[in-house]
Amino acid sequence: MASETNNFARTQVLLQLAGNHKSENITPQTTSSYYNSNCFNDRIMRDKLPKEIYKKLRASIRRGEKLDMSIADAVAHAMKEWALSKGVTHFTHWFQPQTGLTAEKHDAFIEVDEEGEVIERFRGEQLVQGEPDASSFPSGGMRSTFEARGYTMWDPSSPAFIIEGPRSNILCIPSVFISYTGDALDKKTPLLRSIQALSNSALRILRLFGNETANRVITTAGIEQEYFLVDKTFFNLRPDLRITGRTLIGAEPPKGQQMEDHYFGSIKERVLAFMQDVEFELYKLGVPTKTRHNEVAPHQFEMAPIFSEVNVATDRNHLTMEVMKKVANRHGLAVLLHEKPFAGVNGSGKHNNWSIADSEGNNLLDPGKTPEENLQFLVFLIAVLHSVYYYGDLLRASITSANNDHRLGANEAPPAIMSVFLGTQLSAILDSIKAGRSARVTAENIFDLGISNLPPVLRDYTDRNRTSPFAFTGNKFEFRAIGSSSSVSLPNVMLNTAVADSLDLLGAEIEKELAREKDLKTAVMVVLRKHIRDTEPIRFDGNNYSEEWEQEAARRNLPNIKNTAYALDALVAPKNVDMLMRQKVFTRSEIESRYHTKLEQYIKTLEIESETLANMVDIWVVPAAVAYQARLIKVVRGLADLAGLTPGLSYKSELELLSVVTAAVETIRAKREELMRALLKSESIEDLSKKAKFIADHVVPLMSEVRKPADELEHLVADDLWPLPRYSEMLFMM
Ligand code: ADP
Ligand code: MG
Repeated sequence: MASETNNFARTQVLLQLAGNHKSENITPQTTSSYYNSNCFNDRIMRDKLPKEIYKKLRASIRRGEKLDMSIADAVAHAMKEWALSKGVTHFTHWFQPQTGLTAEKHDAFIEVDEEGEVIERFRGEQLVQGEPDASSFPSGGMRSTFEARGYTMWDPSSPAFIIEGPRSNILCIPSVFISYTGDALDKKTPLLRSIQALSNSALRILRLFGNETANRVITTAGIEQEYFLVDKTFFNLRPDLRITGRTLIGAEPPKGQQMEDHYFGSIKERVLAFMQDVEFELYKLGVPTKTRHNEVAPHQFEMAPIFSEVNVATDRNHLTMEVMKKVANRHGLAVLLHEKPFAGVNGSGKHNNWSIADSEGNNLLDPGKTPEENLQFLVFLIAVLHSVYYYGDLLRASITSANNDHRLGANEAPPAIMSVFLGTQLSAILDSIKAGRSARVTAENIFDLGISNLPPVLRDYTDRNRTSPFAFTGNKFEFRAIGSSSSVSLPNVMLNTAVADSLDLLGAEIEKELAREKDLKTAVMVVLRKHIRDTEPIRFDGNNYSEEWEQEAARRNLPNIKNTAYALDALVAPKNVDMLMRQKVFTRSEIESRYHTKLEQYIKTLEIESETLANMVDIWVVPAAVAYQARLIKVVRGLADLAGLTPGLSYKSELELLSVVTAAVETIRAKREELMRALLKSESIEDLSKKAKFIADHVVPLMSEVRKPADELEHLVADDLWPLPRYSEMLFMM
């Protein structure tokens, strides 16, 4: 019997699980007593740097200006002294290549003096500039290999931090990554450029409204992160989870999320211990993580920090994901950041709460206290509507990936259609502006439109729509369609840039009206009315998951592109490239390089998934089924022998079962062959976009067809022969 029992490993995990969770007793400390202890934040800089140097550094950070090189040595020295006092031996420029989350190449602080002795040194130029070997970072065809050189440059607007290693610690310096020809090779450079673009355009609007004091506008982001946790041993036993991050096969459990009893439920102790350790690590790094709770699906959770400036928020989200993976390992858990680790249960997203604020801290998407302030708020609001309407395809492209394709539009996540939710009250205001008398707008009829009392009502208004991909939530927008494993960088780049462009357009039109001797209010109202009318199709407050919305969106001519292979075209659509270049956020070759990299990633993901699936069928699923067939054949033979002795003894059921299993094995083998043939065919297609589209149209559907008989077999084959941890185990046991 033992030789037949190939689920030995799986059973062992089940036996051990109960004893798995041991919490250590750690004396609780107040968060403030260690918060920022591994972060070279503003206060430390103020303490450690000579006053003049600190002032210069602050000024360049605050105004988003280039760093004065003359101060670099002093900053490097202070940073090194601080780092040495914290057990740091190495430093790294921490950057974000186009593929993967973050990259680091460590260098020791050491230098050897004339006597052969080692001294710790860190020079200004090492702080400011680094030179990783760039040749193996994908550039989407931007550089040929012979000139594959790039360098990293310190981004002083995001604080340096310390990562603790098992023996000594590492100082991480957030950096951009650019080629020697000045092309952005990373995710951060375009983000910094888009922040600048939005600041310029927003200031132009503020000046129109008479604000002469704000000197910069910043973008703010608060990023909610969803994730799954499963026991690490289950994870290790699933090649698909290990290799692709999601289960490629797996039968749905009898109890899924139908009971909806998990959301906001009490948090299991093993999970809570994980969350608390993650928080401990994040607090040391100065990441202000604030909320934690269970999510809708079993074993699904969410955490969210207090919002910050978008560049810092993006770095912090990258760090958060890294810390989660590391801590999970210590707890014998695997954190699944994949958008859809399990079919039939909710996937995970990342909600990007987004707003803009001036240098005096005023949230520009917060309705104001006076009619004038509210008018300014409406200009910003309409600019966002305008952006999502005209550049919705680009926003869609910025969040697309093979992973997110499983989630968008799957009746659980926002659909692939971009639309904006404003809520009843704000919609009513826009409708009445649209219907109003445009020619003569006075302070009184602005009042009539309800703009004067926007703030108290809106603020308390709890009108929420959890199905909208882009929802206004009182004083910010929530971009909810981003995938859980992806960086929020590109979506924020596209959002900032599109809004910058729309603000420019609105600003220019208002200026034109003013030149016709209209007063500001009238000028603004004329422009707003036009754009409220134009952008109406993008507004939708209903259920975004419904089929009616798909039909309605089609009538409104809103794009509904369901997969990455097609959605990516928008990255290189002429209107979008023009806009991105106009705002100086991407050059043509930079955006083309992102397009190619994303196509390559899509293709590679599906190639790896298909190969893994075929391999699992070959060495796990079919052998388990065959072992069960052998068992059934033995039984049928035995019964047939006995039938001679026992008249009337039937083995019909056993025979039937055998033929069902046999049929499933036949189907799975046939479909697997078809899948491999389609994959082989895709390999002969040179053009990346055509190849991706072929894969989307032919390979992806075949993967589901291979999955079907595999899941059927999981329901048929005897439990002691089934080697792969089941959904009912992974999602309900830890
Ligand atoms: P929920 O969406 O669950 O109701 P909240 O609205 O309180 O939760 O906040 C969700 C996230 O939005 C948090 O990370 C919060 O810090 C962030 N947030 C709040 N205000 C802003 C803002 N002005 N800009 C960007 N993010 C914000
Ligand atoms: Mg939210």
